[in-house]
Amino acid sequence: MAPELLIRARRAIVDGREVAASVRVRDGVIIAVEEFGADAAGAEAVELADDEVLLPGLVDTHVHVNEPGRTEWEGFASATRAAAAGGVTTIVDMPLNSIPPTTTVAGLEVKRATAWTQAYVDVGFWGGAIPDNLADLEPLHAAGVFGFKCFLLPSGVDEFPELSAVGLADALEETGRLGALLIAHAEDAKEVTDVSGRAYAGFVASRPPSAERTAIERLIATATLTGARAHVVHLSAAAALPAIRTARSAGVPLTVETCPHYLTLTAEEVPDGHTEFKCCPPIRDAANRDLLWEALADGTIDAVVSDHSPCVPELKRFDTGDFGEAWGGISSLQLGLPAVWTEARGRGHDLVDVVRWMASGPAGLVGLDRKGRIDAGADADLCAFAPEESFVVDPDRLWHKNPVSAYAGRTLSGTVRRTWLRGAPVDPTGPPRGRLLKRGQG
Ligand SMILES: [Zn+2]
Repeated sequence: MAPELLIRARRAIVDGREVAASVRVRDGVIIAVEEFGADAAGAEAVELADDEVLLPGLVDTHVHVNEPGRTEWEGFASATRAAAAGGVTTIVDMPLNSIPPTTTVAGLEVKRATAWTQAYVDVGFWGGAIPDNLADLEPLHAAGVFGFKCFLLPSGVDEFPELSAVGLADALEETGRLGALLIAHAEDAKEVTDVSGRAYAGFVASRPPSAERTAIERLIATATLTGARAHVVHLSAAAALPAIRTARSAGVPLTVETCPHYLTLTAEEVPDGHTEFKCCPPIRDAANRDLLWEALADGTIDAVVSDHSPCVPELKRFDTGDFGEAWGGISSLQLGLPAVWTEARGRGHDLVDVVRWMASGPAGLVGLDRKGRIDAGADADLCAFAPEESFVVDPDRLWHKNPVSAYAGRTLSGTVRRTWLRGAPVDPTGPPRGRLLKRGQG
């Protein structure tokens, strides 16, 4: 049996507070959180540097790995190495952009078979709810997916069509019966217009806040009727917040996430033709960003997750800079923590807040009781974070498969010095040790 491990940290985020602590680990599990000077006899002791803070490994429930089928966009090995380098020790993979999509048990099995030899961090899977797969939801749920993603307007890939209003009601009826979570890309097709050209303002105008608000109101209304749990992915438009607040205070089982790019970037600073900033819904103006931060602070937004959605550089159409032609998606799996921390600290937030938004919040969303917290009984998934150390983002030095980043050239605060998965440091050049997670088992 391996010896106990004792990780000493002058600063650690434990149970919603920053404390000095020693974390005792046996067989990959935290068995106790003790005082900083706890007895290390018989244990392998590791002490964090004075400028490091011990965080629980982050949980990113919104990652598009794209393998198999579009592996040149991203794959399990590259995505999970990037995750570990960014302090993320658990990802939950989205059901689309891979081929096959995760809309049947057979599709899930293909993904699991592809992932299990390549995962440097733990990996779970979302299922997909599309037209004509209602009968697949129950077997997918039984097979361990963490819930079901749907689109309320075309997704961008043919193999993952959107749900109609009736399809959404049917899906929520079924997920409610199963006790499963339905997560929705909420933009309304009727309020989104076609766009072309290099102007970022034109692109933003083509996907107005009202498109999100209308779709979210439809989601809320349907969730209210069915009583089923619903979750809004990648909220961008602050204009939807009043409806969300009203629904939540009325007891509708609704949760919400947003993403690092909506919290840290603004439309004002996106240069025309720079399609590395294209994502859907779009990055909006600075006033909108302030309102998203208010909603994070008051708990209206439950989680901050990456929506890591890469593609090959050619599909970003840097040759034309046309926002209509370019693939929408921002890669930030490795950068989410420093990006959010950089902005959060400037707004008076501390690492306790960041851990709530990026670790315990998303873990709670998908019921991963052993993840996202430093506590006895949790997996020893940890991250040594140096919050005062800054760096300039160089896309060529990220583990993401394709060197395209909306953060290129930016100076961010906070570096991830080391990441532990079940008590052992993740070595991106060694063999992968990640496990595949199933709902209710992690
Ligand atoms: Zn996404």
